[in-house]
Amino acid sequence: MALNEVKGIGPRALTLLKKLGINTVEDLVTHYPFRYEKLERGSLTETEDGGHIIIDGKVESSPILVRFKAGLNKMNFRLVTTTGMVGVSIFNRAFLKNQLVVGTGITVIGKLDKKKNIITASEIKLGILSNKMRIEPIYHLTNGISNKNISTFINMALLGNSKEIEDHIPLQYQEKYGFANKRISLNIVHNPPSLEKLEEAKQRLKYEELFEFMLKINYLKEENKRTNAGLSRTIDKEKINDFIASLPFELTKDQQKAIDDIIADLEGKGRMNRLLQGDVGSGKTIVSFIAMYANYLSGYQSALMAPTEILATQHYQSLQNFFANQKITSALLTGSTSKKEKEQIYQDLEEGKIDIIIGTHALIQEDVKYKNLGLVITDEQHRFGVNQRANLQNKGQKPDTLYMSATPIPRTYALTIYGDMDVSTIKTRPKGRKKIKTLVKKNTEIKDVLTLMYEELKQGHQIYVIAPLIEESENSDLTNVNDLKDKMNLAFGSKFKIDLVHGKMASLAKDNIMKAFQQNEVQILISTTVIEVGVDVPNATMMVIFDAERFGLSTLHQLRGRVGRSDLQSTCILISDNDTKRLEIMEQTDDGFEISEEDFKLRGHGDLFGTKQSGDMTFKMANLTSDFKLLLQAKEDAYQYLMDKNTDQEELKQKLISSIVHS
Ligand code: ADP
Ligand code: MG
Repeated sequence: MALNEVKGIGPRALTLLKKLGINTVEDLVTHYPFRYEKLERGSLTETEDGGHIIIDGKVESSPILVRFKAGLNKMNFRLVTTTGMVGVSIFNRAFLKNQLVVGTGITVIGKLDKKKNIITASEIKLGILSNKMRIEPIYHLTNGISNKNISTFINMALLGNSKEIEDHIPLQYQEKYGFANKRISLNIVHNPPSLEKLEEAKQRLKYEELFEFMLKINYLKEENKRTNAGLSRTIDKEKINDFIASLPFELTKDQQKAIDDIIADLEGKGRMNRLLQGDVGSGKTIVSFIAMYANYLSGYQSALMAPTEILATQHYQSLQNFFANQKITSALLTGSTSKKEKEQIYQDLEEGKIDIIIGTHALIQEDVKYKNLGLVITDEQHRFGVNQRANLQNKGQKPDTLYMSATPIPRTYALTIYGDMDVSTIKTRPKGRKKIKTLVKKNTEIKDVLTLMYEELKQGHQIYVIAPLIEESENSDLTNVNDLKDKMNLAFGSKFKIDLVHGKMASLAKDNIMKAFQQNEVQILISTTVIEVGVDVPNATMMVIFDAERFGLSTLHQLRGRVGRSDLQSTCILISDNDTKRLEIMEQTDDGFEISEEDFKLRGHGDLFGTKQSGDMTFKMANLTSDFKLLLQAKEDAYQYLMDKNTDQEELKQKLISSIVHS
């Protein structure tokens, strides 16, 4: 059933629903309330004079409508309740008059005047409160669509016999946990008869999400094992060691260990499926380069994928630096590569003329063919979803895969969420790195901040300034980045160059400014969070973050990791007037693992996986942290289910699996 076939949804509603991200019946019925309002029945005798009251009853007299000037109106009628009769008056609800027929059950919310025995209502809802209480679902809305509209659409969709509402929990597990079926559970979540029933239904729906997710993870893992035939290759380790010896720095112990892991994987029979996690600045990039070098030495092509164009470009540039003395041919492929160039690159890749290709999503989204792809690396792994992971693996000739993540994830979570991978962790930091000094400052202390900035600039160093949003008029209290640019210009503009990048900018313009910053033509770079990942400018030694309370700790840690990239002492200043206690954690530690644990405790997984960017870590109802027990359960069940050869629901199993493969 298509969305427009749902009773009541016309073209106008269709457009509005689209704005809410609702495009299908499934989207609609899983547009879950973000909270509920509890309507608890009060009594006329127990409520005090002037007190707030919610009371239900039957309309006892036809409403009398009084109209005023300027389109205002007022209605008066009498209501019989279980604790007596009461007058109700309500403003500007003339449109309800026809529905308030004598004898109709309604619920009135308002203020009780005991002397006059009148409720001045702020709201009237049709229907009485069953069980002394009614639980109202409250939905995210958009202009032109009311809570009531959404609720009606959802209920209509649930009534219609839509095939989209498929049950994805195999019967054996529904029975095991005594779950109701999906349609009933959805109905309860959208029309809760009681808090207990609501909780049960939510568990059921969460479990389904987690089960499907874990099925996916387990499936990928098993597939990977099954199609285990990796590439056969020999790697000239002497050449690798020579290359390592030629680097301008000594590898850390953990970097060396990660490289050993990777080379063993590459040479081993199976296919590599490895996650390389390490704090920002821990030096993952060089590890990935060495992996690509090893892959090159054994005669295969490598692809390195980054989440943003800036990052891809930067990797490409450092690749040129590190491999200046090698005969490796490389290319950069991003969204802004011209069509002509792209076609040349495609052709060269297919003919094997390119050894290493670096790019953005373009590398998997488009129909890129390789001559002999041997290694695929994705940087900032958490931004690519499990589906994309699968997609990538299905490309080309069973390449080995390496995923890099700068978001340290507590081990137990990592084992579950990335259960399909081996993990290498870099904990040691490059030698000579000083701890980044972190200070929390109030807006009233801005003068101190400017002084500190000036000290830094005087020494020839550069500064990042971060402000969360641009020109969001509804958030006028947030520091507007344009405004900030003016202020910075006023303070430093006569001696230093200040520029601005933000998310709404065209990527070419952004890249140009980033380049200027990299080359120290710009000394202060103001930005929204677009530089969050990866960017490497060792001469930048200060990071100033406005409205710091708006960020999760893990994000702040990522941002802070943009400085402290050389042996210069770096400073990070967090400006905020509230929530400073949480921010003080940043002053105390610079251990990403510790910070991510704190973040887990404080905010759940939302921030950690970056709600915006991650493809599949965001569930509509489940939460990886608070529902972790349920996740473990789902993990075990999904594994058993996958391994079970004689399921009597082969059809469902095939359907679930094919949706994994094709999504
Ligand atoms: P990340 O893990 O955040 O991706 P990078 O790979 O960008 O970190 O490394 C940060 C910086 O540290 C780079 O300039 C890189 O060249 C440098 N670097 C990497 N490894 C070492 C090392 N062992 N000693 C000194 N500097 C290093
Ligand atoms: Mg990196």
